[in-house]
Amino acid sequence: MSNNAVIVVGGGIAGMQASLDLADRGLTVYLVEKSQSIGGRMAQLDKTFPTMDCSICILAPKMIECFRHPNIKLFTCSEVKEVTGSAGSFQVKVLKNPRFIDADKCTGCGTCTEKCPVKVPNEFDMGMGTRKAIYMPFPQAVPRIATIDKDRCLYFRKGICRVCEKFCPANAINFDQKPEETTLDVSSIILATGLDLYDPASISEYGYKRYKNVLLSLEFERLINASGPTRGEILRPSDRKHPHRIVFIQCVGSRTSQKGFPYCSSVCCMYATKEAILVREHNPECEVYILYMDLRVFGKRFQEFVSRAKDEWAVKYVNGRPSAIMEDPETRDLLIRYQNVMDGKIEELRAGLVVLCPALIPRKDNKVLAKILDLELNEHDFFKTNDPLLTSVKTNIPGIFVCGFCQAPRDISESVTQASAAAAEAAEVAVSAIAGR
Ligand code: SF4
Ligand code: SF4
Repeated sequence: MSNNAVIVVGGGIAGMQASLDLADRGLTVYLVEKSQSIGGRMAQLDKTFPTMDCSICILAPKMIECFRHPNIKLFTCSEVKEVTGSAGSFQVKVLKNPRFIDADKCTGCGTCTEKCPVKVPNEFDMGMGTRKAIYMPFPQAVPRIATIDKDRCLYFRKGICRVCEKFCPANAINFDQKPEETTLDVSSIILATGLDLYDPASISEYGYKRYKNVLLSLEFERLINASGPTRGEILRPSDRKHPHRIVFIQCVGSRTSQKGFPYCSSVCCMYATKEAILVREHNPECEVYILYMDLRVFGKRFQEFVSRAKDEWAVKYVNGRPSAIMEDPETRDLLIRYQNVMDGKIEELRAGLVVLCPALIPRKDNKVLAKILDLELNEHDFFKTNDPLLTSVKTNIPGIFVCGFCQAPRDISESVTQASAAAAEAAEVAVSAIAGR
């Protein structure tokens, strides 16, 4: 059956932009997101570069717009399971996982979360803060509906508790909720599954997960965020003291064929610069160093941003490659040994906190989706497009388009532009389907 509907898989900034573009053209959009809320990685960021706008302040209105748009139907906690058909008429089987909450009744009041006795690490805060077994992932989550984490809930694990049920004023708890399958008829498919961070724990010289004061950049974003685990105060995980010096290390597991990935993640030099400025803004006493391989900042806007970091915020950029990070067992400071590329000398820096900027990689789901949709992936599991320059959103299957980080590393503004391109292509397929062409 041909129709004017499009399915968008992934509710981050790219997926939302594609959905809004299509919905504004009068097409029906099914926006499918695996987690409980739309927003994606951008919701975890503190600020955006180079404008230093508050990330969630830009994102939240778009999230609400998606939620309220009459042409967008949101499927959160949902995954694509099967796809048949071809361009103009795909049938997509979507599995909606249970929240154990009646979505029509829940008002998002948060009473259940307050009363729940189970505390577990909060994934949204990269495990640094805690959440409850019944929770909303972050304060601006959309839709504003609680979810019970079945693996942590005392009722599901031991048959006891049900405190949330007792206190919910809307009678919204439903422990018997089951997964639901829906088949959606759509004319085209857009994939916008986003990115993940490479875990550099296996590169022992960086000491990640071995030393408490070595963090990943996204962990640091949460640390510096006013709604994060320390309410925005930069405190060391080991002793909750202010670090006297923070060292950012670039290209961790990037641009290497031995330990990690050979490609450049494209955004790390810029976000490290942004985070470095934020440190100086938060605490002018704290020194900041960025140890880099090459500074990959292109275009006037980005170069000016780095110059501002150097000149106005006294961020120190050192062209150096670290060979080892060691912890001082007494102070929990980190000693970074690196080779200064300019003169070849081995030098050392002592820091209170080290922030690693790891390779950014496609989500594991890419492999699963590629199999379901018969799509080609490149050697790093990004979705392959027909021509990265001329047709950067078209895949090997007509009617299936990709945008954002799932296709290649790119920043927010590039993702948004590409999402609009994918939406334009998808709209064309929908219009042809309606016209019976
Ligand atoms: Fe409030 Fe009930 Fe929803 Fe929890 S489940 S947020 S208590 S309405
Ligand atoms: Fe929390 Fe589960 Fe108890 Fe509800 S039943 S309050 S989710 S532990």
